[in-house]
Amino acid sequence: MDLRHILITGASSGIGAALARRYARPDVRLALGGRDLHRLDDVVATCRQRGATVIATAVDVTDQSATRAWILDADAESPIDLVVANAGISSHSGGDGESEVRAREVFAVNLEGVLNTAFPAIERMSTRGRGQIALMSSLAGYRGFPDAPAYSASKAAVKALAEAWRGELAARGIRVSAICPGFIETPMTASNKFPMPFLMTAERAAEIIAAGLDRDRARISFPWPMALGSWLVAALPVLGDRVLRPRARKPA
Ligand code: NAD
Repeated sequence: MDLRHILITGASSGIGAALARRYARPDVRLALGGRDLHRLDDVVATCRQRGATVIATAVDVTDQSATRAWILDADAESPIDLVVANAGISSHSGGDGESEVRAREVFAVNLEGVLNTAFPAIERMSTRGRGQIALMSSLAGYRGFPDAPAYSASKAAVKALAEAWRGELAARGIRVSAICPGFIETPMTASNKFPMPFLMTAERAAEIIAAGLDRDRARISFPWPMALGSWLVAALPVLGDRVLRPRARKPA
């Protein structure tokens, strides 16, 4: 599909910013969203240097009406070909247990934020019978991870949503993909204290995601050894419980 207008949420850093840079070229219009306009400055400048037309907007994806207005306005300017619902936050209980407040924040951004982004796009794309939507899940969405309960549950929901929508929306000409990365080097993982096997740069992740979306892949899971491991711990729950059980903490 010829991508002329691409909208990305959470585009100020990490994978969202890398995707914006990856897609930036003279005949492309980028609608980039982030909570803080100032934090989008760097990626906007780089994308403009590459010749793209860039419209940066301060939008919090948990704000349903603001997100809807942003997407409908962007689409009215020029029909959106691809929406990447990328914005997300993590939660690592670190053995202290995940607070209820944090769990609710994670669901608000990672799941409701995706709904707030996708529904207006589906509405507009349905009327013209074409479009593409990419939902940011994670390999952590393959099963529940004891170190990140709300995060893994929110990503599992997003993965299921993408799979279901892919079936439902094909008849309306809308392609839907679930993106399931392993560990990617971004601000989200920068403070992780645990080992992150097969850690990959955001630039490489953006290449893989763009190639997968170009081929209309249902699920873009990578890197493959981590995807295989995640599939195994999901398929074999007893093994998963053993491998993923947090180590008992020594008393202080
Ligand atoms: P990141 O923290 O650099 O990017 C997340 C972006 O989302 C940031 O720009 C942040 O400002 C934005 N954001 C957060 N809450 C928002 C809100 N309410 N409204 C609008 N924007 C908001 O981290 P990242 O690793 O690039 O994460 C991007 C996506 O990739 C997330 O959904 C994350 O869960 C997912 N992911 C990351 C990894 C990884 O290892 N880094 C792995 C799998 C999936």
